[in-house]
Amino acid sequence: MGLSAETALVLFSGGQDSTVCLAWALDRFARVETVGFDYGQRHAVELTVRPEIRDALSALNPDWAARLGEDHVIDLAVLGQISDTALTRDVAIAMADNGLPTTFVPGRNLVFLTFVAALAYRRGAKHLVAGMCETDYSGYPDCRDDTIKAMQVALTLGMDRRFVVHTPLMWLDKAETFALAQDIGGEGLLDTVVERTHSCYLGDRSHRHDWGYGCGECPACQLRAAGYKKWREDRARR
Ligand code: ZN
Repeated sequence: MGLSAETALVLFSGGQDSTVCLAWALDRFARVETVGFDYGQRHAVELTVRPEIRDALSALNPDWAARLGEDHVIDLAVLGQISDTALTRDVAIAMADNGLPTTFVPGRNLVFLTFVAALAYRRGAKHLVAGMCETDYSGYPDCRDDTIKAMQVALTLGMDRRFVVHTPLMWLDKAETFALAQDIGGEGLLDTVVERTHSCYLGDRSHRHDWGYGCGECPACQLRAAGYKKWREDRARR
């Protein structure tokens, strides 16, 4: 795909999905900036792995290094204050009565996209890239394709500026996300995703599995482990 001369802002948490999204954007846009949010997550591991991943991607590809611009970390402590969920307080990770896991922070992605768009407005960027995915997530309503499309329209109207929200992972499962990483950046990107990205809800960076670090038990670890296993099996058949 050809290179766009425009700027993209990537919602970048340091997880597997947003790291693949960052590589996807670096492959397509002449300038790419990253945006992270500090909202009192119980484990700030994902915030500490972010600069390491940025450095690793720059080291993989000199074109990516030239395109990778600033990193912005926005303090959204207020989101932690109004949310009572397993990610921000000591609440057990379980399924709540509404069928959503207790890791659900109501409206989180709506807030994130609004702040990214406000930043993009100031920086003259049209493209927002985010790792929302409808395929094998836990049913978070703010990850749905319709939600994201509605946000694109709302932000474009509300700021009177054309925004395009790209969600390259929307219809991929975790195995297909590993495959996309390989397509974009080969073994180097795959190694970076496995070794450096963080998904575990418990912030475990001490147990190393073939799919990366994590407790191995929480929903995020189980999803990542199953996706990696399926991807390995798919690749062996090719
Ligand atoms: Zn875990």
